[in-house]
Amino acid sequence: MHEMSLAESIRDLIETQARKERFNRVRTVELEIGQLASVDSAALRFALDIALRGTPADGAELVIAEPAGQAWCMHCARTVELAQRGDGCPACGGYQLAVTGGDQMRVSGLLVD
Ligand SMILES: [Zn+2]
Repeated sequence: MHEMSLAESIRDLIETQARKERFNRVRTVELEIGQLASVDSAALRFALDIALRGTPADGAELVIAEPAGQAWCMHCARTVELAQRGDGCPACGGYQLAVTGGDQMRVSGLLVD
């Protein structure tokens, strides 16, 4: 399951930060999962629940933002919003689109004690 390996890389990142910045407890983990990132946020929550056990972020609140996808439409020559991969341009219906945002997954913040 691909969400489990994501959860493990998030755990590694938190443990590295905890050692570097010497905090013992993470209250909140803020994540950004673009709508085009092909990550199921419910599955990721579940995977993190398991992966973070016994770490400084055990029991931390997960705040997940899901920014919309963005693409550059060659025909309209502007950035448009994309609900999912494979959709046409909402303005002209064309498919000459290059994804420019909303396809990333990252930890955007950690609230620590
Ligand atoms: Zn267009």
